[in-house]
Amino acid sequence: MSTAEPPPGATPVTVTTKAGATGPRDRPVAGGAPAATGQPTARVPFHVLAKPTGPICNLDCEYCFFLSKEALYPGDRFRMSDDLLAEYLRQYIGAQPDGEVTVAWQGGEPTLMGVDFFRRALAVAESVARPGQQLLHTIQTNGTLLTDEWCELLARHRFLVGISIDGPPELHDRYRVDKRGGPTSDKVLRGLALLQAHGVDVNVLCTVHAANQDRPLDVYRYFRDDLGLTFIQFIPIVERDNDTGFQEGDTVTDRSVDPAAWGSFLNAVFDEWVVADVGTVFVQLFDAALASWCGLQSTLCIFRETCGDALALEHNGDLYSCDHFVEPAHLLGNITTTTMVELVTSPQQRAFGRAKADTLPGQCRSCAVRFACHGECPRNRFTRTADGEPGLNYLCAGYLDFFTHIDGPMRLMAQLLRSGRYADEIRGLFAAAGRNDPCPCGSGRKAKVCHGR
Ligand code: SF4
Ligand code: SF4
Repeated sequence: MSTAEPPPGATPVTVTTKAGATGPRDRPVAGGAPAATGQPTARVPFHVLAKPTGPICNLDCEYCFFLSKEALYPGDRFRMSDDLLAEYLRQYIGAQPDGEVTVAWQGGEPTLMGVDFFRRALAVAESVARPGQQLLHTIQTNGTLLTDEWCELLARHRFLVGISIDGPPELHDRYRVDKRGGPTSDKVLRGLALLQAHGVDVNVLCTVHAANQDRPLDVYRYFRDDLGLTFIQFIPIVERDNDTGFQEGDTVTDRSVDPAAWGSFLNAVFDEWVVADVGTVFVQLFDAALASWCGLQSTLCIFRETCGDALALEHNGDLYSCDHFVEPAHLLGNITTTTMVELVTSPQQRAFGRAKADTLPGQCRSCAVRFACHGECPRNRFTRTADGEPGLNYLCAGYLDFFTHIDGPMRLMAQLLRSGRYADEIRGLFAAAGRNDPCPCGSGRKAKVCHGR
């Protein structure tokens, strides 16, 4: 295994596009923690995923971890009131520094609230934003309820819409089913076509699981070539049999992605992307990795040393430590009785964020790719290390394989950026290499058996 460390003494890189270092050069991307500049009213800027319908959804995806959260609020209608909507936006936007402020909606299925709820949300948000703030609106949806009316609103306010698609219909429909267990791809693709017809910015969120883990290029090419999508997120499905908490030795359902297959999936997509699509297709996980190779903080919380600044707001004002920890032990409080700033800066939330680093097992601490992985998300740390220490990430084998595999090209792109050039110039370097030349990625192999074409 090559030793993958960030370049020594790496100078901070100027990212040449808002879409990260590897996306289209003119495309804005919302998401991630706001920049820590301006006049903060909270000690740290934070990000919130608001769930106006709580876990309520019109579909019944088999792997959805959120549907079971209905049990947290028995008998509830699961609809955010207008009063709470106004209070949330006033507190949240008011606490953010000047600059870009991301207002993010998620579910459940947030479009179940109806278009008028979002019209009211936009009006409130615009009325409370300060002159120095630019609002970026995002919404994550299954796409099945979208109409022309929805898309007009989303386009007018330049929403970035995340739409969930797991690949071609035969893969998507394996687990993403409606309440009767029927396929959903037709409705999703109709929603996507509407978004594209209205010129809405779309980001596809693809979960990787047992049904599509062995078809990486079919999935990737379907998004790129058949659907014309250029912003792609891959999320591994790790679904524990025991969903009542984190217990050492948890097993996973047979829908979950296999750790080695997760690594192979990412490797295969990366190999195609890095020679053909850097600069035209943005793959969130690859861009996040490049930040680590540039010596910057990863753009994804799962790959940062600590976390705790990405929270989840339930429909009734309950604020939780994270979208993946919406459970009683991680309820911080309700924003109608304690301000969000107090909750975000509370000792409980600080401890939650620090625990990501504090609980890292020895195997991770001495791992060659720790700088890029940091043990990934604590929610997946339920296996043991080679020497029996608890707390190793279930996906470790996949991440170790992936981060090792991409080391050469990542070093090359980081080098380009440090020289004030574009990451996408890597494609030209690969294309120019003769078949028998050493591959520009530095692997020591001939280009024809590495990244040459
Ligand atoms: S628990 Fe995981 S998903 Fe949540 S903020 Fe931390 S790293 Fe991110
Ligand atoms: S989870 Fe695995 S790959 Fe990631 S830092 Fe730990 S040992 Fe390394």
